[in-house]
Amino acid sequence: MNEILKNDLDNFASILDEIQKDSISFLNNINEVPTSNTNQETDIFHLPVTGLGASTTLGLFNEHFKKLIVSSAGPRYWGYVIGGVTPAALAGDWLTSVFDQNTQSTQGSGDISAIVELQTIKLMTELFRLPDHFNGGFVSGATMSNFTCLAVARQWAGRLLDKDIAREGMSGEIVVLAATPHSSVIKSLSMLGFGSNNIIKVKVEQGRERIDLEDLEQKLIQFSGKPVILNCSAGTVNTVDFDDFQALTVLKNRYNFWMHVDAAFGAFAACSDDYIHLLNGWENADSITIDCHKWMNVPYDSAIFLTRKEYQKLQVETFQNSNAPYLGNPEENFSYLNFLPENSRRFRALPAWFSLMAYGKEGFKWIVQNSVDCAALFKNYLETSEHFEVLGNVNLNVVCFGLKNQSKTSEFLNILNRRGKIFMTPTMLDNRQCIRAAFVNYRTTKEDIDIAIQEMEAVLENL
Ligand SMILES: *Cc1c(COP(=O)(O)O)cnc(C)c1O
Repeated sequence: MNEILKNDLDNFASILDEIQKDSISFLNNINEVPTSNTNQETDIFHLPVTGLGASTTLGLFNEHFKKLIVSSAGPRYWGYVIGGVTPAALAGDWLTSVFDQNTQSTQGSGDISAIVELQTIKLMTELFRLPDHFNGGFVSGATMSNFTCLAVARQWAGRLLDKDIAREGMSGEIVVLAATPHSSVIKSLSMLGFGSNNIIKVKVEQGRERIDLEDLEQKLIQFSGKPVILNCSAGTVNTVDFDDFQALTVLKNRYNFWMHVDAAFGAFAACSDDYIHLLNGWENADSITIDCHKWMNVPYDSAIFLTRKEYQKLQVETFQNSNAPYLGNPEENFSYLNFLPENSRRFRALPAWFSLMAYGKEGFKWIVQNSVDCAALFKNYLETSEHFEVLGNVNLNVVCFGLKNQSKTSEFLNILNRRGKIFMTPTMLDNRQCIRAAFVNYRTTKEDIDIAIQEMEAVLENL
């Protein structure tokens, strides 16, 4: 064996020890780690001829790159929709790399981690109080989940046209409707050959981000006879608006379309009796996208897709490997290899399984309520302030706001973010530039809101 490798292998325990110490010190001080980094200069290294070994490499990383790491997993990183990492999720994530399984088949000899993955999907549907008619799997994020679901939708639409689109390609005859699609849905449609310009926009209700049902019905009548795929939202990113899935179900029964629900983080509303009504009727979806690295507080990268079991054959048609041996009945002969985009992949279900078992229904209910409470506190402050205004509705855990002096909003955000105590991201709402604060991290407390307010007032003084 190469000498350096051999030496590392002999010293595995002390290497893991060092990493553990470093990890504890980072995680225990995460509140003090800056939320942004103004020093963008990075050192450049050349590939060594003789390797340095793991321990020296760790030292090198700590010296040169550690300063670039920001507390995106900390309590005051409110940009994008970034979840944190619970202890159990980290445990599962570490072990995922330790075990290094290649999660594919539920049969045969060798690795059977796919059995745990299927069980984890089942636990997730229990958490979301979804009926038993869904199956699914883990992918890297909601983007890949949207992609997977829409790929099966495409195969379904092809079936209505007597075409096997996975084999024959697109016909251009399929109608895709959406009102407030996340950018990843548009990206998925372009990757799938629908052409992202071909999405037909459905109107939204006045003052809301959800589908206007009258406009939708008109379009469904207009396109009757063609296969229709409807992208719905369970939590839009700006105002966390939910489509009316019960009303959509009535239309679905009348007009037969594929109902895809992008519930990347909004799915977690199902964890609370107070919010589950927002999702009423979503169980009638054909496919659902849910992120684990957002409100579930599992580390990057992790998401699931759910599709109805009745579409298992369509799903295998979509993702089967052309050189795969005879697949038989996909339900009896289940393999993730022919069920989603990746072939080889890590045991991504494990951090989720650890989280589900460690915190249970009550734990996730608490996480959801804590985020909603934080958003409400922050909104209250903004409403009483003479400088800020809340923009759009605050339905759950996201607050959009701007400066009353609109021209200063962008400068304000830049300065605020550069100070490194709090991080938020810009967004557009009703054609207006604003700032979005998304609350999903379980670590965030009232004290963090107070710190954010102090920071915001300090920036205002110097603006
Ligand atoms: C974040 C998000 C996505 C994209 O998810 P990734 O995990 O970044 O791939 C899609 N839809 C919604 C509603 C989201 O919030």
